[in-house]
Amino acid sequence: MSVTIALAGNPNCGKTTIFNSLTGSDQYVGNWPGVTVEKKEGILIGNPDVRIADLPGIYSLSPYTPEEVVARNYLINSPPDVILNIIDGTNIERNLYLTTQIIELGVPVVIVINMADVIEKRGDKIDLEKFSECLGGRPVFEASALKGDGLKRAVNAAVKLAKCPAPIDPLRFSAPVEQALIEIRQMIPDIPNAQKRFFAIKIFERDERLSELIDNIPDADGIIKNIERKLKDDSESIITTERYSIITSIVKKCYIKRIIGDALSEKIDAVLTNRFAAIPIFAVVMFIIYYVSVTSIGAMLSDYIEEYIFGSDGFVPVLVKSFLNGIGTHEKLISLIVDGIIGGVGSVLSFVPQIMILFIFMAFLEDCGYMSRVAFIMDGFFRKIGLSGKSFIPIVIGTGCGVPGIMASRTIENHSERRLTIITTTFIPCSAKLPMIALFSGVFLGGAWWAAPLAYLIGGCAIVISGIILKRTKLFSGDSTPFIMELPPYHLPMPKNVFKSMWNRVSSFIKKAGTVILLSAIVIWLLSNLGFADGKFGFTDDFSASILSYIGRGLSWLFIPLGFGGWQQTVAVLSGLIAKENVVSTLAVLYHGADLSAALSGTFTPVSAFSFLIFNLLCAPCVAAMAAIAREMSDKKWTAFAIAYQTAFAYAAAFLIYNIGSLF
Ligand code: GDP
Ligand code: MG
Repeated sequence: MSVTIALAGNPNCGKTTIFNSLTGSDQYVGNWPGVTVEKKEGILIGNPDVRIADLPGIYSLSPYTPEEVVARNYLINSPPDVILNIIDGTNIERNLYLTTQIIELGVPVVIVINMADVIEKRGDKIDLEKFSECLGGRPVFEASALKGDGLKRAVNAAVKLAKCPAPIDPLRFSAPVEQALIEIRQMIPDIPNAQKRFFAIKIFERDERLSELIDNIPDADGIIKNIERKLKDDSESIITTERYSIITSIVKKCYIKRIIGDALSEKIDAVLTNRFAAIPIFAVVMFIIYYVSVTSIGAMLSDYIEEYIFGSDGFVPVLVKSFLNGIGTHEKLISLIVDGIIGGVGSVLSFVPQIMILFIFMAFLEDCGYMSRVAFIMDGFFRKIGLSGKSFIPIVIGTGCGVPGIMASRTIENHSERRLTIITTTFIPCSAKLPMIALFSGVFLGGAWWAAPLAYLIGGCAIVISGIILKRTKLFSGDSTPFIMELPPYHLPMPKNVFKSMWNRVSSFIKKAGTVILLSAIVIWLLSNLGFADGKFGFTDDFSASILSYIGRGLSWLFIPLGFGGWQQTVAVLSGLIAKENVVSTLAVLYHGADLSAALSGTFTPVSAFSFLIFNLLCAPCVAAMAAIAREMSDKKWTAFAIAYQTAFAYAAAFLIYNIGSLF
């Protein structure tokens, strides 16, 4: 079956360029309106069954110029199978005016937004899915005729549509106008049903040249005058206004203009969001932040706190111990308070300086306007994996702590993108996972410098893979929302705001130490100090008789396929669910007496150690983060799905690593 595709659009929108590239002909392309006065025809390269007609450029189907007459007569009298409506993407409003009319012809329409290269250069974006939705589900594509991008897909869609046209709704006007059109429609004599709306509108507009197209134009003057009185406007203007109100709403919903800030911001952006430099610059910025907050100054302060304040010889435990001893407290209770509570909570509080510095930087970057640029730069990539550019910020914040990271996903409007962000954010190692990474890389990799970057890379891969997998499922297949974060002008943040923002996050971290971790420290202490010894239940110094060890043994079979089935490792994993810091501290407690490094290299092989690390990095996060997931999802099923998915993913990854790694 042969198919005729007509290219229709405003003058100078690129129709002839498209025609030439589709047919291989070399019609004259001129950068001024009105070059193609007559319709030209050609054959699609590679498919002789498809004929392409290049119509002269027109602004409207209410003809005022010879070109418009040619185009309109052709479209009505010998309608093509499908119209490829070319829109100049740099001038959407004006071009859509014709689109609203072409859609009325009753011929299937595929829309091509041309000049995509210029749109991209401007930094603007178009949400094609929403665009299509606004146009009653008609396919919409972006293309650059100049570069030859995107045309093939549009033509294929047009051919497909021509072969099996589906009835699609027209664009509806407001209720009173629609009512008038229905009445006029009923008066129109025998013309194909599909064209009736077009003629009804033309009659309503009192189109003067209508008699060239149909005979016996019905007299609808009564209906028209009635509505003209009601809307206090002449009928032609009424339709024009209706069309523009449709166009305005489409542009508002689908065309995302980059906010152009002041001149200085533009200059800064020319560098920071430069196509080639943007990502390297970002990498350097992040490196500096991490170097200062996690590695150098932050680590120094944290070590200081660990050593002098909360560590076993620090002044807090020493003071509390001597006080408790002084008032004759039972030795077990002292152990609970000092080893359990102060040890557990203190180990988490010692991260506070690192997190404070990290969040000061983050707050600065967010407030000054840089973070929104980063999200903007990353949007294209993230969109491919079902996330949004804004997912980047939760992930970055998640490197500090998953809880504020998950909370930061709030700025993502689209449900599907937000849920996917919440599910994947904690794949990136948070600061609480760093001790574990440091410990294992120290024992098995000789403390190689690339261990931590590797962990971030693994987390990043987990996000990408999950995005690719989950996006294919029905759960996440919804529409995407365009990137509508404003790109504000750069400004120097007020110190007060930076500190407030930092403190918001740090205080929630501290709160976590005072609640969840406090409680879990008590529970872990109890479970590891209570047990069955000599046939009696009670306090025991023998860890292997403790309740915790029984729990570990009961569940350790789960981890045998991953290469680490000892009860101590199982307990470490479980305690990691309370707080990731616990993984290291639990191992330290459970292999007590022995040198931890020696104990680990005795129980793990390098492969099983890697498997253990991967599982702990990727599995369900700590309870605080799980609670944050529940809060942000505000849905039990989604929360359960998130946690189950993370754990299953971690299990599969560790399983593969252990079993493939063991082959070598
Ligand atoms: P027509 O009047 O609709 O037939 O438009 P033409 O095909 O003659 O193109 C008008 C001008 O727009 C020419 O200068 C083309 O080179 C230019 N043009 C067409 N398509 C594109 C495009 O995708 N990107 C850019 N930057 N220019 C284009
Ligand atoms: Mg032309």
